[in-house]
Amino acid sequence: MIIFNQVSKSYDHNGARISALKDINLQIENHEIFGVIGESGSGKSTLLRMINTLEQPDQGQILVDNHDITTFNEAEERRSRKKIGMIFQQFNLLYNQTVKENIGLPLRLNKVYDETKIQKVLEFVHLEEKADHYPKQLSGGEKQRVGIARALITDPEILLCDEPTSALDGQNASDVTQLLRKINQTFGTTMVIVSHELTLIKQLCDRTAILDKGQMQEIIVLEKSEQQP
Ligand code: ADP
Ligand code: ADP
Repeated sequence: MIIFNQVSKSYDHNGARISALKDINLQIENHEIFGVIGESGSGKSTLLRMINTLEQPDQGQILVDNHDITTFNEAEERRSRKKIGMIFQQFNLLYNQTVKENIGLPLRLNKVYDETKIQKVLEFVHLEEKADHYPKQLSGGEKQRVGIARALITDPEILLCDEPTSALDGQNASDVTQLLRKINQTFGTTMVIVSHELTLIKQLCDRTAILDKGQMQEIIVLEKSEQQP
């Protein structure tokens, strides 16, 4: 479970303080797909990055599985991040490494390289055929599936998705949406999906928080739109 308790964050910008988030209260349940929707600049990325201790709030508490992550030292932050996967709008792949090398990267960094595991994840995202290709040889949707596979390889309990389909066209976006749903159904992964795209949010999210200029307006439950099997 992820809990935000009166969380606020502002940034310095040319000497002025810019408020990115103000008094955010949230509770995200285990196994839930939780959406955060809002316009550009509404604080979505900041909220997501805080769950991964990539940003620290100025005020408030953030609890992940009952641990206040805002009090963590560096070793605790590293440990906490191991339970969390992240995927990005622009995929953030290493372009001089193959699909397989990109996916294996977290295992190499954690010194637990495991060929069988990489193979399994490649199959899960249907990229077996592309294992030795480089990112520039892939479509946008395939690149995002590599990003997803790299996030999955450490068996995260939480998957943070920052505009996961915003750089993709219709078919690729819908493939990635279906893959995200399959991850939640197969592994019970808790997901936080931030996006400005109502289509994605409607297809996936159990509950959705609306952010406007750093303030949370309300949490809504949208009727799920038509889903392909
Ligand atoms: P979103 O993801 O909804 O576009 P962000 O969380 O990226 O929103 O940004 C929220 C606000 O905080 C914006 O006004 C943005 O300009 C500001 N901001 C975000 N990151 C920084 C930063 N590192 N330095 C200064 N201002 C920032
Ligand atoms: P126990 O295994 O006895 O239930 P905990 O899991 O609550 O104990 O915590 C044991 C130690 O590991 C504590 O110091 C706690 O702060 C730390 N710890 C537990 N879970 C995490 C986590 N997800 N990230 C970072 N540190 C953690």
